[in-house]
Amino acid sequence: MKPTTYYPLPSFKAPFFLFLAFSLCITHQAFASPMEDYYMQKRQHMIRLIEQDVHETSQYLDTEALDEKVLKAISTVPRHKFVRPDTIEDAYKNHPLPIGYGQTISQPYIVAIMTDLLKLSTDDKVLEVGTGSGYQAAVLSELVKQVYSIEIITPLGEQAKSRFKTIGYKNITTKIGDGYYGWLEHAPYDAIIVTAAASHIPHALIEQLKAGGRMMIPVGSNFMTQQLLLITKTIDGELQTQQILPVRFVPLTGEH
Ligand code: SAH
Repeated sequence: MKPTTYYPLPSFKAPFFLFLAFSLCITHQAFASPMEDYYMQKRQHMIRLIEQDVHETSQYLDTEALDEKVLKAISTVPRHKFVRPDTIEDAYKNHPLPIGYGQTISQPYIVAIMTDLLKLSTDDKVLEVGTGSGYQAAVLSELVKQVYSIEIITPLGEQAKSRFKTIGYKNITTKIGDGYYGWLEHAPYDAIIVTAAASHIPHALIEQLKAGGRMMIPVGSNFMTQQLLLITKTIDGELQTQQILPVRFVPLTGEH
């Protein structure tokens, strides 16, 4: 009878599992990497489109180029993971897209200039009103310490929250509610960004903005031209309002 050979377990199993892990890595890379490269290239192209638009609107923005940090954040966030599957091929085009419930993910150029004009620092705490797809919050989260984002439409808010978890954004906290009243619990904020058009500047948001803080908000009705405003609260608590450029946003809804 043929004698049974026993292999000492560690020396047999360890190389086998190493080989398995290595093969899985290779297989994973073979599938994941080309897609990631594809989207990375699309993001780079989108950045060039944003830069072109910035150049063409430089008289409104008072600058020829956006902060490198903002461009880096935009070139990092996988915008294709924030759009509906049927619009994924359009994710990196420089225009807004429908996200359901009559709402839209903003045009990349608008996300870029609003983020840039906030002049954010790494230690900042930012409030966003209108989570929507979650894309703007993700861009902010690349640049600051903590983002708080409020959404009034429950399914959109919940979807964005689960996206943040899946993609791995740990510094975004969300809630469902009416952002017209801000989020008092975490106030004051270094910066506030409102991504839906308000008929006027909500008082609570002014109250919850730090002295020295900046707020971006589109103001105007749904039927008329809205103006994107940059509001700065001075160290003495005074407000300075700067009209940036005409825009078109979905309306800020709620009971107010
Ligand atoms: N920042 C979003 C843009 C979403 S569009 C993104 O990156 O995708 C504006 C969003 O504001 C919509 O989802 C809309 O439901 C939400 N919204 C409108 N009024 C609101 C309110 N009062 N409070 C909170 N969210 C509001």
